[in-house]
Amino acid sequence: MERFAGKVAIVTGAARGIGAAIARRLAAEGAQVAVADLDGAAARETAAGLGQDAMGVACDVGNEGEVEQCVAAVLERFGRVDVIVNNAGLMTFKTLDQWTAADWMQVLQVDLIGAALFTREAFRHMGDEGGAIVNISSIHAQQTSPEAAPYAAAKAGLLSLTRTTSIEGAERNIRSNAVLPGAIDTAMLWDNPNIKSGAESIDKRDVGSPDDVAAAVAFLASEDARFITGTALVVDGGRLAKL
Ligand code: NAD
Repeated sequence: MERFAGKVAIVTGAARGIGAAIARRLAAEGAQVAVADLDGAAARETAAGLGQDAMGVACDVGNEGEVEQCVAAVLERFGRVDVIVNNAGLMTFKTLDQWTAADWMQVLQVDLIGAALFTREAFRHMGDEGGAIVNISSIHAQQTSPEAAPYAAAKAGLLSLTRTTSIEGAERNIRSNAVLPGAIDTAMLWDNPNIKSGAESIDKRDVGSPDDVAAAVAFLASEDARFITGTALVVDGGRLAKL
């Protein structure tokens, strides 16, 4: 399938994990892809693995100037931007009585503000035919576990940003949707201290692969989803549905 032939996509946090799988999937379907990541060297390495039509960009999504520079670099190289996947994220752990304002800001700046900054750039630079934004939220937007308050709040906030973007984007033909992954086999999952300690238990059958998320993202970013905007798709193998 070549659903993204002639299209340009930016995927944030795409040096590894879910973002890298999304970048691979969009490239396999014909997109020119920018792999944007805090780790510029790793971003360039991942992009090199995608072939000639990919570029790696060092970008801290929480830094307004770096986001602007990233989009400018993509426009200079590929001439347009059609798809933005806000995937960069981080999760930190403390009980509610321990968090400082700086701790809160560290998570919100990347997991929520980063997506808002790339959304603004989409509105500034997407062409007349519009485009698609996919925000990678989490099942933590709906149900959560102890010690992850800023992460859960940021991921819930992303669902709200997704709705606002769909409303303000309608006239511009810019669609915006969110994906809520469950437990996905990446470094972020296995580094989670709640998982390590057993406080949060996960059945092996409930662990999905980055490619499972990438398939959902590719659908929502494609013309197959042209009548779908402002919504959220859970990709968790049914974990949230259980009592
Ligand atoms: P990961 O930690 O394996 O990869 C995250 C990537 O984001 C890394 O390459 C990292 O360098 C990059 N990154 C971090 N901060 C950044 C910043 N400020 N600017 C740019 N890049 C930055 O994580 P993952 O599991 O692949 O997670 C990807 C997304 O999926 C995150 O938003 C995460 O919250 C979400 N998610 C993951 C799971 C899971 O189980 N793995 C579940 C639900 C949601």
